[in-house]
Amino acid sequence: QGTIIVNVRAAVLGDEYILLLADDRTEITRTERIRNDFVANVSHELKTPVGAISLLAEALEASPDDEDAVRRFAARMHKEASRLAALVQDIIELSRLQGADVVHQGKAVDINEVVADAVDRSRLAAEAKDIEVRVGGDVGAQVFGDPDLLTNAFRNLIDNAVRYSPGNTTVGIGIRHRDGLVSVSVTDQGIGMGPEDQERVFERFYRADAARSRQTGGTGLGLSIVKHVVENHGGEVTVWSQPGKGSTFTVRLPDLEGGTEDQSAAGRPP
Ligand code: ADP
Repeated sequence: QGTIIVNVRAAVLGDEYILLLADDRTEITRTERIRNDFVANVSHELKTPVGAISLLAEALEASPDDEDAVRRFAARMHKEASRLAALVQDIIELSRLQGADVVHQGKAVDINEVVADAVDRSRLAAEAKDIEVRVGGDVGAQVFGDPDLLTNAFRNLIDNAVRYSPGNTTVGIGIRHRDGLVSVSVTDQGIGMGPEDQERVFERFYRADAARSRQTGGTGLGLSIVKHVVENHGGEVTVWSQPGKGSTFTVRLPDLEGGTEDQSAAGRPP
């Protein structure tokens, strides 16, 4: 922090003047570092399931007649392959988001509809743990943006609420529309997390509990996707949590009026 990186070039002009050109490279260097860290993380994360699949395949080849072993190895290969697929999908989604221009390609989106879609997509995971997902609050609020990206963001929050909660609990989703802002909060009665984790959970590949996250199919990218989507829509996402009690993730977005002030009127309803 506090360091500025400059690229200085000098040219001598005649006898009296020296021309100094200084480029501020601070931001570029920071971006490069973030990109390099990301590539290193991606390689590491991809290598783990790929390595496991190749070991399991070798084990399968070595014991083709042991039916019990074949079944166990195949089941583990299936799990590792699903993890690999989820990881690849999240990486593609994240890189697609870097270039997404929701301001110019967006439209009017009914927030209750995207939340209902997201709940639908998380249904299987919730039912598998007997978790009830309840939606309540205001209806009819609209925001300006990309419905698929927003559905995906809410789905990530609901999937997490289910993933980090014990069975037989409830996930509550509250929608509010006030003073030009639409807020959606997803509250669970799960394991929660301490203040240090709360500060870092939106970073790529950060996990409060890596083993649990991997075990339950997490990629470590869900919340950074949520943050990107929400910020692309001019909003913010915050977390409140208490270990052992549960967590609330709140997404705040400008409503359709607030969100379209300086945008084309193309997506506005008549
Ligand atoms: P992951 O795929 O690991 O869930 P995310 O980016 O979605 O990755 O979340 C990052 C980390 O934040 C998780 O590994 C977990 O430790 C923590 N986390 C996210 N959501 C919750 C939640 N609802 N309750 C408790 N911890 C959570």
